Amino acid sequence: MGLIVQKFGGTSVADAARLRHVAEIITDTYKAGNQVVAVLSAQGDTTDELIEKANEINPLASNREMDMLLSTGEQMSVALCAMAIEALGYPVISLTGWQAGMVTNTVSRNARIKKVDTERIETELNQKKIVIVTGFQGINRYDDITTLGRGGSDTSAVALAASLRADLCQIYTDVDGVYTADPRIVKDARKLDEVTYNEMLELATLGAQVLHNRSVEMAKKYNVKLEVLSSFTGHPGTKVKEVAKRMEKSYISSVAKNVNIARIALIGVPNEIGTSFKVFSLLAQNHINVDIILQGIGHEEGKDICFTVAQSDLEAASVLLREHQESIGFGRLETNSHIAKVSVVGAGMMNHPGVAATLFEALYDANININMISTSEIKISVLVDEKDAEKAVQVIHDKFFSMG
Ligand code: ADP
Ligand code: ASP
Ligand code: MG
Repeated sequence: MGLIVQKFGGTSVADAARLRHVAEIITDTYKAGNQVVAVLSAQGDTTDELIEKANEINPLASNREMDMLLSTGEQMSVALCAMAIEALGYPVISLTGWQAGMVTNTVSRNARIKKVDTERIETELNQKKIVIVTGFQGINRYDDITTLGRGGSDTSAVALAASLRADLCQIYTDVDGVYTADPRIVKDARKLDEVTYNEMLELATLGAQVLHNRSVEMAKKYNVKLEVLSSFTGHPGTKVKEVAKRMEKSYISSVAKNVNIARIALIGVPNEIGTSFKVFSLLAQNHINVDIILQGIGHEEGKDICFTVAQSDLEAASVLLREHQESIGFGRLETNSHIAKVSVVGAGMMNHPGVAATLFEALYDANININMISTSEIKISVLVDEKDAEKAVQVIHDKFFSMG
């Protein structure tokens, strides 16, 4: 007997049949003697459809009103799921983020969970009820509804698991677990039995959408036992933990790609002390995150600074830099949003030289040009043209995982 948090993503709750199936997974867990808190996403593409609806009315709608709208998708799912569980004859209650005590900061559309007041959930659990909670949303200190950013239901689930000291947090999705690459791109990708928190955090941040990166950060911080598995197949999933068993011979665990990035190049920046500071402090003050940065050694006429930002920040970053062109002193600004970042992640690469060379060889053999490179202890990322991204993932995967 334990307390289990189970999260079900959009595809898992897409229609009445899927919801009934989810209700069975939940009630089977309950019947086995566990307390169950389930966290649900909006059905199928509901969140995208709500955004479209908003755009039809007012493309410049405030984030506050967007949150009011987007939070309704999850509210619909939890009520319907509770009805499916009622139909099976089990005690159940659905709760919105604010009813469940999910308190966030005030950053609409990208709020962070500050704490979870668990009394209400605990009262319901003590009355032997199954509790179904909306993912992706909370309430801020002004009693306004907030949402946590796209894919944020994973983070809601882990936050609940941490606050309730759950024995296990299961993330049910539409694939069997975490794979060596996105199984929808690489047909022979293999499921990993285990992956470390650190690898998963890198992977999620580098574009593997299977887990929201903040959910992994939180699971690591609070040592939440996390498992990713399919609501469709019932196969064993992937365990995310501090130390993971490795598939023999593979120093990397997975390949990821992110196409939602853009590159900015400042050409002809004066070769003086403090220019990088000027550029990047300006962006930081305006909450624009910068990823890979490349700066040459420069020459008398100046130097070039290239860096990447999220595609959604490209417009704001370009406008800002152009406004400060004179004070920074660059010659011209160039942008490119048709690029992608492809990365390999693996704790094993720390102790094994040659991973970078193998990756570059795979791209060379496939005639794919590398624009920029960035590395950390457990990852190597390269920037390639967007049109080459899927091929790059495939050839890198082939190189690392078919070495025998
Ligand atoms: P959910 O709606 O359940 O939250 P998501 O669509 O957010 O599901 O995440 C699951 C998807 O993540 C899969 O369908 C898969 O295409 C994608 N994905 C990307 N990289 C990986 C990976 N390395 N392993 C598994 N899935 C991945
Ligand atoms: N429904 C939200 C989204 O589509 C949250 C989630 O599914 O995790 O982004
Ligand atoms: Mg998701």
